[in-house]
Amino acid sequence: MSTSELTKKMQKRIEQLRVAASDETFHKAEVQTYDELSHNLREERKKKRPQARLGGLTGVVTTDLDNVSSNVKFKDVGTVQHIGNGVATLSGLPHVRTDGLVEFSTGVRGLVLNLDHNHLDVILLGADEGISGGDLATSTGERLRIPVGPRLIGRVVTPLGDPLDGGGQVTASDFWVLERNPPGIVQREPVHESLQTGIKIIDALLPIGKGQRELIVGDRQTGKTAVAVDAILAQRDEDVNCVYVAIGQKKSTTLSVIETLQAEGAMKYTTVVVASPDDPPALRYLAPYAGCTIAEYMLKMGRDVLIVYDDLSKHADAYRELSLLLRRPPGREAYPGDIFYLHSRLLERACKVKNGASITALPIVTTQRGNISAYIPTNLISITDGQIVLDADQFNRGIKPAVDVGKSVSRVGGAAQTRVMRTLSGDLRLRLAQFEEVARFARFGTDVDPETRRQIETGQRLQAILMQNLHQPLSLGMQIVSLFAAVNGSLNDVALDDIPSYEAAMHEFVDHHAPAIEIEINQTGEMTDNLKSDMIAVLQEFHAYWLRKKPVA
Ligand code: ATP
Ligand code: MG
Repeated sequence: MSTSELTKKMQKRIEQLRVAASDETFHKAEVQTYDELSHNLREERKKKRPQARLGGLTGVVTTDLDNVSSNVKFKDVGTVQHIGNGVATLSGLPHVRTDGLVEFSTGVRGLVLNLDHNHLDVILLGADEGISGGDLATSTGERLRIPVGPRLIGRVVTPLGDPLDGGGQVTASDFWVLERNPPGIVQREPVHESLQTGIKIIDALLPIGKGQRELIVGDRQTGKTAVAVDAILAQRDEDVNCVYVAIGQKKSTTLSVIETLQAEGAMKYTTVVVASPDDPPALRYLAPYAGCTIAEYMLKMGRDVLIVYDDLSKHADAYRELSLLLRRPPGREAYPGDIFYLHSRLLERACKVKNGASITALPIVTTQRGNISAYIPTNLISITDGQIVLDADQFNRGIKPAVDVGKSVSRVGGAAQTRVMRTLSGDLRLRLAQFEEVARFARFGTDVDPETRRQIETGQRLQAILMQNLHQPLSLGMQIVSLFAAVNGSLNDVALDDIPSYEAAMHEFVDHHAPAIEIEINQTGEMTDNLKSDMIAVLQEFHAYWLRKKPVA
């Protein structure tokens, strides 16, 4: 072939390549042909070097070649073998990795979950409409990242960081991958600071520390979400950021949580991540990791964070759904074998690190008929540092929050409890235990001796003072006022039914006549002798006032 023929052929080929390079499905084989041709040309040019007249033309061709090569991109291409229900099986894509992203012809992205010898499993991050078997899918060469940063505070977003609150695109400080290594043991320090939930029974008997993982477990409709939301509301003046992750919750429930947070001014420091039941299962599976990543950015900024996962039963169900669709072997209760790993690697990311910042996690799990020994609840109980068990019977009897003190425990929070609360809680625990022992006599209305009657009456009053209305978290100071009055017997001559109104009036009275008590306890977490005598005086004064004012029955 003469040089001029070869050059003509090259130019024609370059033109074809230009068209091909703009086509996403451009294949490596074509690049090979191109490489061969340019190699041949170089060889030919070497032979014909003395022919100076070709010099100019070769120059033009070389420049053209340079331009073309910059447009050519290599892409890993695969073929859809099977698609449906939010998952897909692909072949090809030799360079893709687990956790890598692939893009389908409709623009929907998928996350690689599994690699096998001749296929790979992908979970879809969007709708599967318009994609069918035989379609091409390309690797983006990236891992899934979500926006993080302070601008997420006050926002409601999907697990991919897209806004759901109509407030425009989220301005990100950075984009972080969802799977991150938790801080190592050297970076951590023991849990030693208290995290107030504003709920008397929890702060007194099941104290939570910053960096702790405390499971909230209970049947459906027993106030699990209420406890977690109240704990978020209690952070109003505490300089703690919050993340609420709703996983597969009814939209109406999630909406009412968001409305409560807005109404109580809690959205100023809270981010909400929502994966609804009608979202693809992949989003429900990714939601807690997204929430945790958002929290970790705040941790990096030196903040204390409280994160609520509502709830991990739904999370486990989403993962089971994906695994069964991908034909992974089912294990106990049809959950895949790595479900324990799934939750432990999530909760291990809660931490108290040495620069003072922390992530406290409140995962929620739903039980059936109080069966806390089912697979997912036991897994979570063994991963976390304690559990708050909510009892359906207590809830139905009107004892709210329905915390079952006997089954609940907080394993590390005791070290973090404020000193003032610790002195009161020992006494409280003892009297409640005594009450538990004799309570059955009260239930059967048996005739009992005066000492037992006294224990029953005190116990009932303690139980009543530990009840709390929805969305009314109390400051440490006010909790101490209530518990101090209860432990010191102020409630003994108050009728059981009057206790809620007695407590409310008492708080108002103390707030009005001795506001320093609340302020000082909140600030110091201690009760000095002076403060104690002030407290006794003001409570006696109030008691006398209440007896005078109380409407006669
Ligand atoms: P689900 O299993 O459906 O998620 P849940 O266990 O999260 O339910 P919640 O939604 O928190 O339960 O509460 C159930 C109902 O009980 C709600 O209507 C809530 O208003 C009410 N409730 C919860 N705690 C209290 C409380 N301390 N005082 C009064 N009502 C409460
Ligand atoms: Mg709930």
